[in-house]
Amino acid sequence: MKSASTLEELEPLLKSKYVKADVKQTFKACQELLSLGKLVLYAGLPCQIAALKAYLKQDYSNLFCVEICCHGTMPINIWQDYINVLQTKYGPITDINMRDKCKGWHNVHVTIKFKSGKILSESSRSNAYMKAFLSDKYLINACYTCQFKQGASGADLCIGDFWGVQVARKHLDDNLGCSFISVYSQSGKDLLNTLLDEFVIEQISPEEIFRYNSGPKDLIDKTKISQYNKAIFNEVADIAEITKALPKKLGIITLHLHTNIGGILQAYALQKTLKELGYDSDVITYDIADDPRGHLNFVDTHIKVKRVSDATKFTSIKPTDYDGFVVGSDQI
Ligand code: SF4
Repeated sequence: MKSASTLEELEPLLKSKYVKADVKQTFKACQELLSLGKLVLYAGLPCQIAALKAYLKQDYSNLFCVEICCHGTMPINIWQDYINVLQTKYGPITDINMRDKCKGWHNVHVTIKFKSGKILSESSRSNAYMKAFLSDKYLINACYTCQFKQGASGADLCIGDFWGVQVARKHLDDNLGCSFISVYSQSGKDLLNTLLDEFVIEQISPEEIFRYNSGPKDLIDKTKISQYNKAIFNEVADIAEITKALPKKLGIITLHLHTNIGGILQAYALQKTLKELGYDSDVITYDIADDPRGHLNFVDTHIKVKRVSDATKFTSIKPTDYDGFVVGSDQI
């Protein structure tokens, strides 16, 4: 864990890491800065804030503590195993972004870049490390009996993701991220008041926040705990290998795009989903001369199609036109 006194120094500390920082050296450094009268903002997990407070043994008016809304943390060796598996397969890692918003905040990706030029980018929902983390099975023992969440640490503020914003405050959702801030002390309130001109801030109840963010939930249910086994990450590299081998240009053969609105919409949705997964595609359909209901306007505007002259002419598609085909619908 590092300290920063300029925006440039702050840069590497930004963004979620999903690895517990080693804070041992920071308590003394923090105490020295406080004794010099410097204004200090200490950010960390609730248990780390509690540990700092215990170390300092006294209150400082120049100290602000901000905790993250903590889900828990896994032992560092799990992260090291994950990284080792990847580096064995793909070589040295040059950059890791655990919260890449390349597909938007509602579908955050884990993106890892390698010296070889390879980029591994997976949705958090399918990334093996994040799946292990979110399963609650491999957290450190202390997390299952945590006493420090929701202000018990002595923090002034708590910051977390407002995951339900698209439901509870739709007008605030730009798919770039929305945070909640819980205020635990007068110092925290004063600090927040200095930010009122910088952010769009609305009041919301804890019930609404915690309906969607599982961070504060009790993990005392020890039945979830599972024995960590390094093998859980071996599949990671294999999945990446399979993904690499998958075709990149796909032909979609489905109900032809004409009068059936449901058929048109499913083709649109399928193509959009394939695009989000990284595949270019054409919906292969045949020419329709008449268009009494104007559906082709939608098709031409929103769907990438390849037309053949009629249903018997699918043989005009050359094997080399596509790397693979997606075929489906009840009528195909
Ligand atoms: S759940 Fe509690 S013990 Fe675990 S990392 Fe969070 S604050 Fe620390």
